[in-house]
Amino acid sequence: MSPANATATGDGYTLVENASLEGRNTFRVPARANLLVDVHKPGALAELFGYAMLKTQPVLVLGEGSNILFTRDWPGVVLSLATRGIEVLEDDGERARVRVAAGENWNDFVHWSLGRGFRGLENLVLIPGTVGAAPIQNIGAYGTEVREFIAHVEAWDRRQSCGVRLDNAGCAFAYRDSLFKRERDRYVVTAVEFVLPRRRELRIDYAGVTGELALLGAGEPTAPRVAEAITRIRRRKLPDPAVTGNAGSFFKNPLVATNVAEALLHSHPALPHWPAEPGRTKLSAAWLIEQCGLRGTREGDAGISASHALVLVNHGHATGAQLGALAARVRGEVAARFGVELEAEPLVV
Ligand SMILES: Cc1cc2nc3c(=O)[nH]c(=O)nc-3n(C[C@H](O)[C@H](O)[C@H](O)COP(=O)(O)OP(=O)(O)OC[C@H]3O[C@@H](n4cnc5c(N)ncnc54)[C@H](O)[C@@H]3O)c2cc1C
Repeated sequence: MSPANATATGDGYTLVENASLEGRNTFRVPARANLLVDVHKPGALAELFGYAMLKTQPVLVLGEGSNILFTRDWPGVVLSLATRGIEVLEDDGERARVRVAAGENWNDFVHWSLGRGFRGLENLVLIPGTVGAAPIQNIGAYGTEVREFIAHVEAWDRRQSCGVRLDNAGCAFAYRDSLFKRERDRYVVTAVEFVLPRRRELRIDYAGVTGELALLGAGEPTAPRVAEAITRIRRRKLPDPAVTGNAGSFFKNPLVATNVAEALLHSHPALPHWPAEPGRTKLSAAWLIEQCGLRGTREGDAGISASHALVLVNHGHATGAQLGALAARVRGEVAARFGVELEAEPLVV
């Protein structure tokens, strides 16, 4: 049993010492933080970052913990943004500028946008997590990335000790990447400003969406119908973190030099691949893992989903260290067989 936790409140925040993070990560692995700070008002950040503990100990910003693996306790402060609010800043009938607080739930915001007749976010439905975390790895699914809708990101800049507002180009978005991910110790995202169109071609030419729409018998597809179809596909394909701990895809699809991809394709013509930036090719990480016979593997309670080779799962009482060891085994076997280095998508601490 851990000792009782001391709790304190300030103007716009709550502090808990020696806090459990087990209920705050979707792998549901045990971990603790020296101090957990829930921030209810972004204005509290200036005061908080003035405290000695936040100056001397490592600070981790945590959303809903759906893209993080704790292999150990966090030896410092965990900061969680619990701020709320969706504000329409401008609406010309064609599109609207909408500012959303970092602590809002992403999927709720997607449904908010669809309910008001906006289009575009339907392909990103049911991705767990907060709005504030969405720009960190430029969340993406079903042929769409969130960067297509982000106009500005507001953040607390720990280096300059002030609030900043970065435009889309300034966020340096890339495949599952951004400035915020690369400079993790610098920015705390406090709000995201989206531009949401009312007219936009639906993207339904991706991985089974058209077929699912046909099953729904929907006639002419609409954005809410596309969201419904994608929700159904995702519920079938991905384990529900409320039932089985996981963080979605654990490995990114590797980007390799095109000549390396060509050599691999020569010996493995079935390897799924897609063109990426000039001179680079994206390979299917799931295929590489499956070829190593690792889908459905289990080491104690740490496993690889039997239905999705990219998803690491906690079957019950796995620790983060055990899941980390299994991830290392996957990386090792794929590297030994194909010479390709897999990179973890979640933050591993
Ligand atoms: C079942 C399942 C399916 C998933 N499917 C997808 C998918 O289709 N596409 C996809 O892209 N992702 C997917 N993910 C991953 C995850 O949902 C997203 O990455 C999500 O954006 C993480 O949000 P979070 O609030 O849980 O962030 P956390 O997991 O809490 O944090 C993730 C990272 O963002 C940082 N961070 C969080 N909030 C802030 C902030 N306010 N300021 C600065 N840094 C911050 C953290 O420090 C950490 O580095 C899936 C996860 C699960 C469990």
